[in-house]
Amino acid sequence: MKTILFNLTDTELVEFITKLRQPKFRAKQIREWLNRGAPDFKSMKNLPEKLRLDLDCIAQTLPVRIIKRLDSSDGQTTKFLLELNDCEQIECVLMRTSYGNSVCVSSQAGCAMGCKFCASTLLGLKRNLTVNEIYSQILVAQWELRNDKFSDKPIHPNGDANNNDVSHIVIMGTGEPLQNIENVIGFIERANSDMGIGWRKITVSTCGIVPGIKELTKWGRPINLAISLHAPTNELRSEIMPINNKYKLEDVLDAATEFSNLHNRQLMIEYILLGRKNKDDETELLNSTPEHAEKLSTLLKGKNCMVNLIPWNAVDERDFAAPSGNAVHRFQDILIKNGIHTRIRRERGQDIGSACGQLRLNNTKGTK
Ligand code: SF4
Repeated sequence: MKTILFNLTDTELVEFITKLRQPKFRAKQIREWLNRGAPDFKSMKNLPEKLRLDLDCIAQTLPVRIIKRLDSSDGQTTKFLLELNDCEQIECVLMRTSYGNSVCVSSQAGCAMGCKFCASTLLGLKRNLTVNEIYSQILVAQWELRNDKFSDKPIHPNGDANNNDVSHIVIMGTGEPLQNIENVIGFIERANSDMGIGWRKITVSTCGIVPGIKELTKWGRPINLAISLHAPTNELRSEIMPINNKYKLEDVLDAATEFSNLHNRQLMIEYILLGRKNKDDETELLNSTPEHAEKLSTLLKGKNCMVNLIPWNAVDERDFAAPSGNAVHRFQDILIKNGIHTRIRRERGQDIGSACGQLRLNNTKGTK
């Protein structure tokens, strides 16, 4: 198995290089390339060619390896399929937005939570990712931004997004971050200290692991918290999100409110609008009737929150359907009438399967 140089300490890297009969300063050069996210040794232009070839035979740069890259047709979203050292695969998504370059990272290979609308849980949980494996996903995105084929085009002429740095992180890819909280916290601390990404530009999204939310509160960093709610009653939520059998809606919201109040942050509420086709091929609303909107308003009344409404994105193996545009707007209007901040989230990268709930492995597996 090849040695992953990013995982070595500085001392270990010097030892590794010395064994190759190379001067110590080469270790420093290599470290600089690794910290910039160099995906291979041929990118390390200031190393002698012979050393680059030798390293290629015995070592790997990062603990993740890009095996496929997909760009959305508008060039604003890029999905990376990454392979870990044990051949597990994960995905991360780079979104070039009007407010900056945002990266959605995975925290686990697979997911055990079993949410009925989500593609990421289809293969179950494989394992937790290490701090380095999570951090490497933003390095991959950073490297791509700096070598970006789109960067010479002003995608957002009115914004400041046309720069080459990752500015925002959302931990909303494959996996439940609070099931891997120790490494997720380690990753966030590192993204803040090593990459200078502000706490307020980092968002952790959870399906509602109450002890994990409490641990985040105890940790005390003023990051953003997003709760995947998706239903306004325990009965319906338990149907589509099995975790609700363990942690009830009210307990999740209480813990999340405590977190957001502590940091005076607006709580993000994610709400996928789901329908289902009946035998007449008509879409019946599952969690998105006017009655559901009223119940959701009651649940959230008085809370400092923003509801992101996400019309369902197609996943082949799931038999949900998207509500009509009218139904989506009617749902939003009711929330607004009841004084709840809300917006309809514009999905990015649907044509490459990277929009919310679409992250999965099998649509890209074997296409290396
Ligand atoms: S929505 Fe999140 S927590 Fe639920 S199954 Fe998908 S990845 Fe896991």
